[in-house]
Amino acid sequence: MLDAKLLEILACPACRGPVTPDADHQWLYCASCRLKYRVKDDIPIMLVDEAEKLADDEQPPAGGDGKGEMH
Ligand SMILES: [Zn+2]
Repeated sequence: MLDAKLLEILACPACRGPVTPDADHQWLYCASCRLKYRVKDDIPIMLVDEAEKLADDEQPPAGGDGKGEMH
């Protein structure tokens, strides 16, 4: 699992927006860019080149983990 403090400082490298982890903390999603970043051995790979595009029917996870809603 990723550290909550780490999650707070992580940002999407493309838009500098917040990223949201999925339940298993295997991916970090950027809803704005519709990209997801792999988490490998608890280390997020925050590189646009390594990111995967979300499928058209794939929804990034909603926040709601106490971090507060994004604007
Ligand atoms: Zn982004």
